[in-house]
Amino acid sequence: MKTIGLLGGMSWESSLLYYQIVNQATRDRLGELHSAPCILYSVDFAPIAAWQQQGDWAAAARVLCAAAQTLERAGADVVVLCTNTMHKLAAEIQASIEIPLLHIADAIAARIQAAGLQTVALLGTRFTMEQDFYTGRLADRHNIIAAVPEPAARETVHRIIYDELCQGKILPASRSQCREILMNLVAAGAEGLVLACTELELLLTVEDVPMPLFPTARLHALAAVDWALRSERD
Ligand code: GLU
Repeated sequence: MKTIGLLGGMSWESSLLYYQIVNQATRDRLGELHSAPCILYSVDFAPIAAWQQQGDWAAAARVLCAAAQTLERAGADVVVLCTNTMHKLAAEIQASIEIPLLHIADAIAARIQAAGLQTVALLGTRFTMEQDFYTGRLADRHNIIAAVPEPAARETVHRIIYDELCQGKILPASRSQCREILMNLVAAGAEGLVLACTELELLLTVEDVPMPLFPTARLHALAAVDWALRSERD
């Protein structure tokens, strides 16, 4: 099995999920005492979040490219960037390393297509919901239409992510708010729901939403295990 390089810390609350899922999935696939060969590089999220707010993506790119290069030098065969939002910088990060970056939107798109769906609702940070790097990739490369909530609801989800979930606060009132926002998107025609922020699956589960659910941390981590096992055989 190839070595998975996890570029995490954004936030560490969801990087924990990645570590758990790559290891659980490896045990499910290989059995008994098997676990995933992996290297975790976990950044300090505070400066990254500040640069996001200021729109200083170049500063964030410098840190994430250096981290990806460190993973490569340490022996990782693939980089898994454990956040949807920072895939805004996927092209820069990929250009800075020789090993592949396993893009989160491609991993999710494969699952959406396998479920036979084309129109989904998508929740994430304001950056992920409002800029083109994620929904544009889903549309252009995979022909998947992702609907996002109206501006006030986007602000609510963004606040819940940064002020609560990334700080380890899982609040029932916020679960209800997110569920209501999602149900409005379902009423508008979405066939499935993409939790396009890796912390949202700490708040919402299949029990909360009566629709096919696409939790991005889980599905991205599973795609990494698939890649690591498949590439070893190739
Ligand atoms: N983990 C989150 C995401 O998947 C948000 C934190 C970040 O801005 O990276 O987008």
